[in-house]
This record gives sequence, structure tokens and C-alpha cells, in this order.
Amino acid sequence: MTERPSLVWLRNDLRIADNPALFAAARRGGPVLALYVLDEDPEVARPPGAASRWWLHHSLTALGDALRERGVHLLLRRGPAQRIVREVAEEIDAGAVFWNRRYGAGERTQDTAVKEETRAAGREAASFDGSLLFEPWTVLKADGTPYAVFSAFWRACLATTGPREPLGEPDLAALPRLGAVPSGGELGSWALLPDIPWDAGLAETWTPGEAGAAERLAAFGRVVDDYQRGRDEPGPDATSHLSPHLRFGEVSPHQVWHAISAGRSGAAAKFGAELGWREFNYTLLYNAPDLAGRNLRSEFDAFPWREPADGELEAWQRGRTGFPFVDAGMRQLWRIGWMHNRARMVTASFLIKNLLLDWRLGEAWFWDTLVDADPANNAANWQWVAGSGVDAAPYFRVFNPVLQSKKFDPRGDYLRTWVEELVDVPSAAIHEPAGVAGYPPPMVDLKRSRAEALAAYDTITR
Ligand code: FAD
Repeated sequence: MTERPSLVWLRNDLRIADNPALFAAARRGGPVLALYVLDEDPEVARPPGAASRWWLHHSLTALGDALRERGVHLLLRRGPAQRIVREVAEEIDAGAVFWNRRYGAGERTQDTAVKEETRAAGREAASFDGSLLFEPWTVLKADGTPYAVFSAFWRACLATTGPREPLGEPDLAALPRLGAVPSGGELGSWALLPDIPWDAGLAETWTPGEAGAAERLAAFGRVVDDYQRGRDEPGPDATSHLSPHLRFGEVSPHQVWHAISAGRSGAAAKFGAELGWREFNYTLLYNAPDLAGRNLRSEFDAFPWREPADGELEAWQRGRTGFPFVDAGMRQLWRIGWMHNRARMVTASFLIKNLLLDWRLGEAWFWDTLVDADPANNAANWQWVAGSGVDAAPYFRVFNPVLQSKKFDPRGDYLRTWVEELVDVPSAAIHEPAGVAGYPPPMVDLKRSRAEALAAYDTITR
């Protein structure tokens, strides 16, 4: 007798290979239905920003096509996921419902409720580890509490037997087909794509979906040896660009780890440690679900942030601060939905420490504009720069955007790529341009604003 169908509920795991939930469904042997629910309830998960919505649209398109080629339907529904999973499971009389785990508080509450409800209806329900190398409850200090220092956390991770091997691709085409496919929504009607076409730079830069992720991973594998030397330079840009693919689960960290880092030292190990920061940040999110809204170090609650003056926040957002490195980063973000890590640190430091604005204003802008906007990585990194986080950069470390520019983009290639007004400015003058037509003068005095930031910090440490 054929098994009853399996329902696979996909969320941040929009891939076929190394997808433990899909794999488990294929192993049961019955027909498989894949389901994606657009659940916009902020109590469950923070609604995606505009750039993430763009990505999601294209990623779902790619996944739907790839599954269809293998005889599996991707059903799209919109609304409260708990109710929809129940309804779809009933409609196909599913024998099992499978999914890969998420780590936000609302997400976990929802998953627990779905699990209980599914089992109460006499169906198998199981969740799997598809998105993290080390789930937050698996790597703890000797006293059972989570690590608060990255280096110790990562050492402890590396001292385990290591991340599991990737599962490969399940043979979906060999499975019996589902008889009647329930009716679903049209992706187009979800209006994930922008009304005003600001997405040309995104479309030129990225190929959302599993195939695009695999291409990036393969390309990075060929140049990984340059990572340690080049990862800080935004001009030649030696990093993997895997972040949005990881964010949407188009590639698993296990696939990345085993392709690049496992058992290797040098640049590959350094890259592995960056994946480790992602793990660490998820541990933070798991233990502090309100990471994007609350200072992890509570003394920062009394920090005297300024209210933004008229046009000030917009100048930062649109890359018109008069500091070329900051402006290049912010314009790169606006144009392609991604910014080099060095520029992320410098632009964030500028907002927090030179403009003395609350890090949450910057976090929210990044959330809306980054294609890799990630509930753990974005908030944790903003708190890292602000000094309000766990194992964060000390507040008094204020990046000087001019010195950073000279050090990491000495010829000004990155600046010229993103700030068109500076295209003809020679390298010697480009880091502190003066009187360039159309380019704004510096919006703050670096020395004075730095001193003011340190004085403000003093008020919370006294
Ligand atoms: P690579 O250098 O190739 O690194 C490989 C992977 O490791 C990345 O894809 C990412 O998954 C992980 N990684 C690398 N650096 C970090 C880090 N500092 N923290 C956590 N994970 C890391 N990263 C996001 O994925 N989403 C975000 O929303 C995000 N917001 C950030 C906000 C600020 C203010 C800062 C300073 C950093 C932020 N980062 C974020 C971290 C980092 O900048 C990006 O992960 C990285 O630039 C992505 O490019 P890449 O894939 O080429 O990175």
C-alpha cells in the first residue's frame, strides 16, 4: 500500500538538496506536497523588508520550478501558518508533516503549536536541523548556560564531532505523484515585487534560488585562498556573497562548511569562523528574542541618543554624508541590496557614533534594504558596533571613515564604483574630496563628533 502523502512546510530552507525535512518526506515513500505560507503576523516573525520580499519572490519562483521538474508541487498560501498547515494537511490527508526548525521566539511557539495539533490529528510531525551547524541548545558552557564570548563559543563548536554531512538531494522524481493538488495562491498576487521599479541593480547582481547559490559557492571555492588577505577590502571584494542564499536557505551552512572549511586551516578556517559568527548570533537570538529592539547591555538604555535633525537620517540612508567610504557603502546597499562587511561596520559606526543616533534606526534601514536581512545577524551586528551587544566592539572604538577608506580602499576603486561624483577624483584626494561639483561637504566634524560620542558614553558608565 502506498504511504499517505507527506506535507513539507518550507520557510527559511528554500532548497531541495540537504533539506532534512524534504529528505524525511522522500524516505517515507508516499507522495510529497511542498507548502510555503506567507504569514505576515509580526507576533510570529518580523515581516520581511522590501529587498527581502524581492528575493523571496524570485526564490519561490526558482524553487517552484525546480520542484515541478521533479514532480513535486509547491503550494503557496497566505495567512496564519498554523491554520493553513492544519487545513492543507486535512485536504491531502497527510500522513506526516515535516519542517526544518527556526529559532525566533514567535516561530518556535508557532512550531510547537503546529506539532501538537498535527499529532493530535493522528499525523506524524517532526522538525529537523536545516539552518544551523550547531543549534543553540547544543553548545553550552560547562554550567549549562550559553556562551557570551565568540572565541570560546567557536572553540567549543570546533571541539565537537563537527557539523553533520550534507544529505544530498532526495530522489523526488521516483515518488508517487499526489492525486489532487489543493488550490493555492498566485505568487504575483502577493505583491512581493516593488511597484516602483527600483530593483534593477538587484536583478543585475543576484540569482536567487538554489542554482544561483550553488554557482556562488562553486565560484567562491575557487578563490577562497585569497579570503584572509582580501576579505577586508571592499574594492576587489574577496568574500563569498553567500549571505542572502544562506538567509533564505537556498544553500545550507552544512553544504558551505563541507565544501569550503571542513578539515582545513588558513583562509578556509577563517571563512569557517565567519560562518561561526552566524551561529553565535543565532544563539543570541534564541536566548534574547527581542535582539532587534532591546540593548543586550541594559546600561545602554540610558544612552543619550540624539533625535535626528531634519534630513540627517536621509543623508545617511542615501549616501550623502560627504564621507566617501560611508556614501559608497550606503549607495551600494541602495543599489544592489548588499554591502561589504567593512563598509557595514563603518556606516553603522558613523550613524551611531558620529551622528549619535540610536542603532535601531540603522538596523531598521538595513532590515528594509538588505537582501540578506537576517533576524539574528542584522540585530546582533548592529549591537556589536554599538557596543550594546554581547562580545561587542567597545563603544569607544569609533571608526574613522577617512582612515578606513585610506587603509582598505587605498586607490579609491570602491569609492569610484559607487559614488559617481567622485569618478574623476585622483586617488590622493578621493578620501577627503573638497569642492567636487555635486558632492556634499562632510556633514559632521569627525574629531568633534567623536569627542561628543565619548562624552555621551561616559554618562552611562559613570
Ligand atoms: P563572507 O565574508 O563570505 O562570509 C560568509 C558567511 O558568513 C556570510 O554569508 C554570513 O552568513 C556569515 N558572516 C560573515 N560575517 C558575519 C558576521 N559579522 N556576523 C554574522 N555572520 C557573518 N549578515 C547577514 O547575513 N545579514 C544581515 O542582516 C547582516 N547585517 C549586518 C549589519 C551590520 C551593521 C554589520 C556590521 C554586519 C552585518 N552582517 C549581516 C554581517 C556581514 O556583514 C555579512 O554577513 C557579510 O558581509 C555577507 O557577505 P558575504 O556572504 O560575502 O560574507
